[in-house]
Amino acid sequence: MNLSPESSKFDSITVTLAKEKVAARFPEAIARLGSLVRIPGIAWDAFPAEDLERSATAVAELLTSTGVFETVEVRRATYGNDKVGAPAVVARRAARNGRPQILLYAHHDVQPPGDKSEWKTPEFEPTLMDGRIFARGAADDKAGIIAHVTAIQSLVDLAGPDFEIGLSVFVEGEEEAGSPSFRAFLDQNRDILEADVIVVADSANWTTTIPALTTTLRGLVSQEFEVRTLDHAVHSGMYGGPIPDAMTAMIRLLATLHDENGNVAVRGLVEGKAAELEYDEAALRTDSGLLDGVELIGDGSILDRIWTKPALTVIGIDGMNVATSSNTLLPAVKAKVSMRIAPGQEPAEALTALRRHLSENAPFGARVEFGEVELGKPFKADDSGWAKQLASGALSAAFGNESVDIGIGGSIPFIADLVQVFPNAQILVTGVEDADSRAHSPNESVHLETLRGAMVAETLFLAKGNELRIN
Ligand SMILES: [Zn+2]
Repeated sequence: MNLSPESSKFDSITVTLAKEKVAARFPEAIARLGSLVRIPGIAWDAFPAEDLERSATAVAELLTSTGVFETVEVRRATYGNDKVGAPAVVARRAARNGRPQILLYAHHDVQPPGDKSEWKTPEFEPTLMDGRIFARGAADDKAGIIAHVTAIQSLVDLAGPDFEIGLSVFVEGEEEAGSPSFRAFLDQNRDILEADVIVVADSANWTTTIPALTTTLRGLVSQEFEVRTLDHAVHSGMYGGPIPDAMTAMIRLLATLHDENGNVAVRGLVEGKAAELEYDEAALRTDSGLLDGVELIGDGSILDRIWTKPALTVIGIDGMNVATSSNTLLPAVKAKVSMRIAPGQEPAEALTALRRHLSENAPFGARVEFGEVELGKPFKADDSGWAKQLASGALSAAFGNESVDIGIGGSIPFIADLVQVFPNAQILVTGVEDADSRAHSPNESVHLETLRGAMVAETLFLAKGNELRIN
């Protein structure tokens, strides 16, 4: 189903109403964010499991208090050999009269606080400073939970308690620990999670005032391999000259992986174009710690290079270490290369391309043998779906600035699981963060006006969805 351009726009009366409803709920929302932040639920074995439990219970209570759900429960998935996942909260209210079912995702676990001495405010005490609330989890991702809850309340305020859009909620409790039971959880709770649209509120806006949808994520292909030239090590004085050593062969092979400008030279990899947004090269240099005089590599805009083109890094080499080295020709050397692959590329194809390159470019007829592989799928949002158009329209209306499509150079692994388990669902990656939110670092914070904008946008999205008949 496609929306006409007009129907993804919001008239000013609706926008004003939504802003008023959110404004009326905002003080309560901030107090609730504070209560959640004070529960340090961390899904690492080294931290108390009771905190994670309390955190899940608190989220379930928030969802129950909205009064709109048929079911609200804390559930855990079983996976692997009798392992049990962290407590997640699920809720559901079925769609009626052909309205869409929307799944709202966030996570209630947080990163460990890190180095406490670097925090300017107590790490688990919400502190208001310069229009932002500072605390671990204040942004990532407890603000995501509060945005969902407040949008649901505001929807009730706008459309009444008998609204017809379907709502499912999934607030997982182990995202920061790599979501080990995520796939199993989806499989075991498919009935409650099934939806037409999945809103993943765990990403960022472009700035505090320019909203964004994250529409692309890069995938990953890593490959371990060995280069061998000899069946055993030999004396370099007796054989050096005519006999190639494996380290030299490996280095020459690795050097073929980029062209002279630093672009990835593996043939057959997908490349795309990122949105044309201002990106500050000086900030990139400072943030990454690039030394003065060292050049950036690759062609295209910086955002193309980070979001929509492949990148390749040699992340490990096992040869001989310097301290124990002797005058010997090494027979074999192992390396691991890691590629970030562009949205739209199948990991298996990229792996084939990489292997072909390594096999074809091995110098001196050296043998190449492949070992362990890791594959992660990239993500590219379906631009043509009604949900994307509606969400961009809602964000633009809520913030008063045109919403932009952004990418992430890394991946959010569980997005690939969502795509696989719910192939027909449209996935929207939204968020409450901005460039200064410092998720995972000391002094994490959420910008209050950005959070408010996210709530208004989600309210508008749900209110408009409540008028759509799609089934
Ligand atoms: Zn997160």
